[in-house]
Order: sequence, then structure tokens, then C-alpha cells
Amino acid sequence: MFGSMMQQPLLISSLLVHAERHHGEQEVVSRRVEGDIHRSTYRELAARSRRMAKALAALGVNSGERVATLAWNGHRHMELYYAVSGSGAVLHTLNPRLHPDHVVYIADHAEDAVLFFDLTFLPLVEAVAERFKTVRHFVAMTDRAHMPEAPKIAGLLCFEDLINAQDDHFEWPNFDENQASSLCYTSGTTGNPKGVLYSHRSTILHTFAIALPDALNCSARDTILPVVPMFHVNAWGLPYAACMTGAKLVFPGPGLDGKSLYELFETERVTLSAGVPTVWQGLLGYVEANDLKFTTMRRTVIGGSACPPAMMRTFQERYDVQVLHAWGMTEMSPVGTVAALKPKHLGLASDARMAVQATQGRAVYGVDMKIVDEQGAELAWDGQISGELLVRGPWIVNTYFKSEGGDPLVADPEGRGWFPTGDVATIDADGYMHITDRSKDVIKSGGEWIGSIDLENIAMAHPKVAMAACIAALHAKWDERPLLIVVKKPGAELTRDELLAFFEGRIAKWWTPDDVVFVDAIPLGATGKMLKNRLREQYGRHLVGAA
Ligand code: ADP
Repeated sequence: MFGSMMQQPLLISSLLVHAERHHGEQEVVSRRVEGDIHRSTYRELAARSRRMAKALAALGVNSGERVATLAWNGHRHMELYYAVSGSGAVLHTLNPRLHPDHVVYIADHAEDAVLFFDLTFLPLVEAVAERFKTVRHFVAMTDRAHMPEAPKIAGLLCFEDLINAQDDHFEWPNFDENQASSLCYTSGTTGNPKGVLYSHRSTILHTFAIALPDALNCSARDTILPVVPMFHVNAWGLPYAACMTGAKLVFPGPGLDGKSLYELFETERVTLSAGVPTVWQGLLGYVEANDLKFTTMRRTVIGGSACPPAMMRTFQERYDVQVLHAWGMTEMSPVGTVAALKPKHLGLASDARMAVQATQGRAVYGVDMKIVDEQGAELAWDGQISGELLVRGPWIVNTYFKSEGGDPLVADPEGRGWFPTGDVATIDADGYMHITDRSKDVIKSGGEWIGSIDLENIAMAHPKVAMAACIAALHAKWDERPLLIVVKKPGAELTRDELLAFFEGRIAKWWTPDDVVFVDAIPLGATGKMLKNRLREQYGRHLVGAA
């Protein structure tokens, strides 16, 4: 027997309709590429999104076609989030930090029909425009007064002209909730980048999940500033969760340095933010150097790579900002786990509580996970034994776009598909998952695994260390040994022996790195993560010859 409830497809446009109707006055504030601070509301955003949906139709964009962006976090990008997906086309958020060859490869693979870009990226677009095989229209995300001379881009269109040419009388179309809504590519550190094609249904379910109190805890009383770019897995879902909950939104545009971010946090009274650990380093550095405080910010989501506990401690103990450590992947829309506490942790001493918060957290409802050994047998949740982490759920990838790379799933004995994350983790009896490594970053010393993240976290706790990466370096006797690559804090004096002494008592002695290489900077990838494969290429033979 079926239930007798309404069949209403879960569509992304419904988030905007809700925000306009119930939170129409709520503000959306953007620092723009043009240099100004732009203030609008959900009411205005919704009207402009409807106009843009009509403009897309006028440009001949059909349902299912891909519309690409090369853009910072801002209101025009948000309007495209809703105009493109809401009209049944697919929003493809290109990562402008990628190498131009990768941008061309990905845009061709996606068969993008239109490309919208912020003025910052004009040189990139000019350099690659003629190489795109499928792009029919280029649109500069600005107004007429700021339109650039761009002789290399034939027929360049202007965003505000497109909006101004339409009125806002438009009904969002109804269609199957399983229709594709947006497309993101994984960074492809190995092999070609692969596309993950989200659906309206997967996006809405993910939005419900991340807004919950033990996930990102979004509400109408929040002011959310996503530092995580809208081209990095849909800013982790915040542009959708903000509409669902009616939170005020603040977009930082191109200003991701500590000073610009801090100013916006304070002037707009931001309560919740989110980003990768490397951006928080810049912000904390600025706040520390200028002896500042956060007046309103009380929570920040940190994920994308492991948050060093030392950073967590600084945020929480010095600035009274709760850190929500979260883990996920492009293939997971992206959120899988969040390290929210259970009641039994509340009475713990600060160190013990911090140890729980430093894990990658427990699964949000909707995500099922397990760890397996090399034969695929499930391992115990004892917090000790580690294995490859597998996941499944309604917002987890089934196949890559155009089946790139073949079927990614592994079957369990009942024949159900699980997505192999490539992460190595333990899970404890309370369900808290702790990543010890990405499988490709694991250090195998004499056949035993050493977790590089633990070693990085210890190094990062040293007061003179700004950034640390630990890699597997070839070793004559042990095959591989840990090698630490370190950036010192400005002006700090620190020797190899001083730093290695800091590991004593904090880790089993044989885990201590064999050597330290001090560098000026650690290379970061397009989403702000340390490029350990690059470091391995450069320093992987550093120890060869050692006894
Ligand atoms: P890529 O970096 O390959 O583009 P994603 O941005 O989807 O892919 O990153 C997913 C990976 O990032 C995860 O598989 C995991 O290795 C790492 N990651 C994400 N969040 C965390 C976290 N909180 N702690 C440790 N690693 C993390």
C-alpha cells in the first residue's frame, strides 16, 4: 500500500521561492570585483534570478545543457546558481585556479554552452576562448559601465544587460527531481579530472542534512559568510542552506586575505563561516598580529583537509569561536561527517573534548559508512584498527559524468554499491571517524603504516611553525620514512633538532620524522590544499642513502 501524500518533486528553485516568500527582507551582501559592497535581499535576488532564467532561454540554453561559471562568491554567482539549475539547465562551476589547459579540457568535456565570468578572470578567458569547442556565448559578470575591451572574445555579452532586457514574470518549471542540476569536477591529482553530476533531489536532501543542528547548524538568526568558494563543491552547500533557513548571506568576492575577511566578519556581524584550514591561517595571522577579537562570529566549519588541533584550540580558547570539523568529498556533495559532540562529551576536560572534535566526526543522517581491510571485509569500530573508508547514500556519486574512469563503486556481499573514498580511517564505538591518511599519502615504514596527518598536526602545534606537510620519502632500509616539510612563522628561528625534539612523548618514537626541510612556501592546489604529490616529486629522494 502506498502512502497518500502529495508527490512534489524536490527542486532547487523551491529554495529560492521559499526564501523570497518567508525571508524576503533578509539581506544578501557582496563584496564585488568592481570594488564596492553591494547590498540586496532575497526578494531582489529571486527577481533577478527569474530575469536571468528568461535571459538564458533567450540565449537558447536548453534543459540539461551546461552553463559554466568562472566566478568568486557573489550575488551574481548566486543568481546563476538558481537561474541555471532552476530552469532545468546544469550549472558547471569551473575552478579558475586550475591551469588553463585543465580549464579547456574540463569545459570541453562538460560541453559547456555558455560561460559566465568575473572580470578578474578576463585574461584567463581571453587566453582560452578560442580553444573552447562548445561555448556559444561569453558573458562578463558586470554592468555596462565596467564592460572591458575584449577584442579576443567575439560578441562578449554583459550580465546586467541580459538582466535588464527581461522582466521578472516567470514561473519556475516543474520537472523530475532526478534531473541534473549542477556539475563539479574533482581536482584530478591522478588521471583526468572527473565530473560529478548532482541532481535536484540529491542537492535538496543534502541541504536538509547540512542545515541540521549537529551538522552546520544554519538558522534564520545566522549571518553566513562562505569563504569556501562557490566553485569548490557548491561552497559545501551553503548557498542552498542559506535560502532554506533564511540566513543572511555575506559573499567575500575576491577578498580572501585576512584583513578583507576580518573587516566583513565585523561590519556585517557574521556568525557562521566555512573554509579550508589554509585560509584560516591567513585570517588568524591577521587577527593575532593586530590583537583583534571576533565580536559576533561564534562558529566556523573547517574541512577539505584535516584541521590541525592547534588551530582549533586557538579559535576556541583564544577567540571563543567553535570549530566544526567536517569531512567530505566532491563525490559526496560534499558533506559526510561533522565532529559535533554527544552529551557524554560535554563534561570532559578540554583536552579530551578537543580529541573528539579533532576527529572528522560522525556521519550525518543519509550517509552510511564503513571501513574495510584489503580483502573488503568490514573492520571493527574500535577507534584503533584502520582501513579504507567506504560510503553510500542519496547524495553520493553513483557514476562519474560520461562514465569517465569506469564504475567507481565496489559491491558488498549483498551486492550493494559503496563508494571507495580513498581515505584511510578508524571509526570508534561512538561512530566518530578519524582519517589517518589519504591512501596515496600513507607512509609505509618497514611494512607498518605511519599516519602523516598526525605528524603534521604535531608540527603545527609548535609555536614557530606556520605550515607543515609530512610526506613519504624513500629510505634504503625502511622503504619509506616520514619527512617533514615546514614553513616557519615570519621572523621565527627554528632548527631541525628543536622541532624534532617537540615530537618526543607526543608520538611513538619510531614515528618521529627522519628529517626536516625548511621551505619558504608549500605549494597549494586549486582548492587550497597542500599538494603533497608535488612535494613527493621534489623531496621524495631526500633520505636515500641514509642508513
Ligand atoms: P580533491 O581534493 O581530490 O579535489 P575533494 O575536494 O573532494 O577532492 O577532497 C576530498 C578529500 O579531501 C577527502 O577524500 C579527504 O582526503 C580530504 N578531506 C576532506 N575533508 C577532510 C578533513 N576534515 N580531514 C582530512 N581530510 C579531509
